[in-house]
Amino acid sequence: MIERYITHAGAEAIAEIVSLARGLHGLRVLHVNSTYHGGGVAGMLRSLVPLMNDVGLDADWTVLFGEPKLFSATKKFHNALQGEGVFPDEEELSVYFRVNEFFARYAPFAHDLVVIHDPQPLPAIHFRHKEEPWVWRCHIDLSSPDERAWELLKPYILRYDAVVVSSEAFRKEDLPTEAFVVPPAIDPFSDINRELSPAEIEGKLAQYGIPSDKPLIVQVSRFDKWKDPLGVLEVFRRVREGAEARLVMLGNMASDDPEGPAIFAEVRGLAAALPDVHLVTETDELLVNALQRAAAVVLQLSTREGFGLTVSEALWKGTPVVATAVGGIPLQVQDGENGFLVTPGDYDAAAGRVLELLRDRDLRESLGRAGQEHVRQNFLITRLLRDWLSLIHGLLG
Ligand code: UDP
Repeated sequence: MIERYITHAGAEAIAEIVSLARGLHGLRVLHVNSTYHGGGVAGMLRSLVPLMNDVGLDADWTVLFGEPKLFSATKKFHNALQGEGVFPDEEELSVYFRVNEFFARYAPFAHDLVVIHDPQPLPAIHFRHKEEPWVWRCHIDLSSPDERAWELLKPYILRYDAVVVSSEAFRKEDLPTEAFVVPPAIDPFSDINRELSPAEIEGKLAQYGIPSDKPLIVQVSRFDKWKDPLGVLEVFRRVREGAEARLVMLGNMASDDPEGPAIFAEVRGLAAALPDVHLVTETDELLVNALQRAAAVVLQLSTREGFGLTVSEALWKGTPVVATAVGGIPLQVQDGENGFLVTPGDYDAAAGRVLELLRDRDLRESLGRAGQEHVRQNFLITRLLRDWLSLIHGLLG
């Protein structure tokens, strides 16, 4: 399985992975998050866990199952860590700790290393007498967390042997725990990223009633305020004043994100006044793939962003991206080289860049080529696997 990646990552990268894995054969690694579907973390684990097993580790993945109150608590923590002044109420807090305590007592933790993803299962560590190292892998934009939530969660984070974040910008000075920066990555063989024939692309667009008569502008993101879906509509409104185009917003609902339906309803209300807007909430990874390939321009207008896998996904397909310079996005978009960066909320600048790209096919193609190469060098799953193996060596001494 790992050898399939030679074509994209090169033989040296594979040899390095195999050599790093040699000392870790049979090592039991458990990943814990809170959903098998929806959002970037689940997608990445779907590729990373089988690859870890393929190179000889004994990797597992389990999910913290919860009730709606758990996810309303953890979405508030998510929002607060990204800087919003919200905090779970008493009942939500008590469910948060109760579910984690139950999980910590009854989940099978017979492992040599535990990797906890994001705030949902974070406090489980408090309820265990652990013998193995635990790593907290935070995928959230921690550039300016709300103080109250951060102070509540910090004592739990301090119990971890190491923290992993996606960008240097998320290191916290008041967190003495050893921190590693390991950006996420995409799998070129997943349904989201694999090669598609022109017929497959056309077929997918036709299936969802999306005509290819006008250039497509696409944002693929959960309907989440941090992805600024209303801003996407506003940019499209301004683009239409200068060019013909269609907008497709694709966002499935993640089971651990309770805010999606309300935000989608708001978007739908505003989109009704605009022609040529297609909103899709279906879960269909081949549609993600087809749209990122068919698009003239991909937008990612997040106001906060841990990484934004959708950006690398589009770049990998040779599609230029107009995105906000927040969180992990500037690691991926090099302004003027493989896309354009804009300031969040500067809809005129974003619309201007989109129009520039719509009018200049050569520019789109040259930025697209640079984007593919940038992702190939930095954001393929093989690089992520290598980083994890090095990190595990470091942790286990
Ligand atoms: N995604 C998807 N279907 C959708 C919307 C998103 O499969 O309708 C995928 C998207 O292609 C990406 C992941 O979900 O792989 C979202 O990751 P990202 O880092 O962009 O954002 P997150 O949801 O983790 O904040």
